[in-house]
Amino acid sequence: MIVKSAEFICSNTQISKLPPPVKAEYAFIGRSNVGKSSLINMLTAKKGLAKTSQTPGKTQLINHFYINESWYIVDLPGYGYARASKTNKANWSKFIHTYLDKRESLQCVMVLIDSRLEPQKIDLEFCNWLGEKGLSFVLIFTKADKQSSVKTDQNIAKFKKALQVTFEEVPHYFVTSSETQLGREEILAFIDTINKD
Ligand code: GDP
Repeated sequence: MIVKSAEFICSNTQISKLPPPVKAEYAFIGRSNVGKSSLINMLTAKKGLAKTSQTPGKTQLINHFYINESWYIVDLPGYGYARASKTNKANWSKFIHTYLDKRESLQCVMVLIDSRLEPQKIDLEFCNWLGEKGLSFVLIFTKADKQSSVKTDQNIAKFKKALQVTFEEVPHYFVTSSETQLGREEILAFIDTINKD
């Protein structure tokens, strides 16, 4: 897929104010600092579209970006920010779980995982929740340029193994780098296939 246009549409703190659910949506989510904004900018080839390195754990916004005037990238607030207050964490949880569970136009959840890390409990729990809800999701391993491909592969294998405890079939995954554009074509092609179905 060629990205011809990518436009910021709106930031929302309330589910009731989201755009009407009539266009396909792909929701990007992961721990704070996983590289989500960088990945969205890399996919859309638009530097500064998603704001990188915001103070994590503060404003809980759902951002809609309209791509090729036909579908949305949805930028969800990051989770797992250690210094976020209990109230913030609880609000995050309610807000996001409601969006994911109820959004009719949501096609697929793109779960970002830092490829440098051993499997993290919070990521596994989130994937398990998506599985319980029967939501379709894929894994995107980020920042692959930061280490050898052997190390990336080892961490992916460990993550897959950890998921096998609860999933019969491990979801599809992508390896990415926002620095080198690794994985860009594959993710866009994947979205294209779903959009054409
Ligand atoms: P977010 O909080 O998940 O939106 O993460 P950001 O996109 O703001 O990235 C967090 C930090 O990681 C920033 O300093 C980015 O420059 C860096 N970063 C993100 N993706 C990559 C990547 O693929 N490779 C490298 N080397 N650094 C990255």
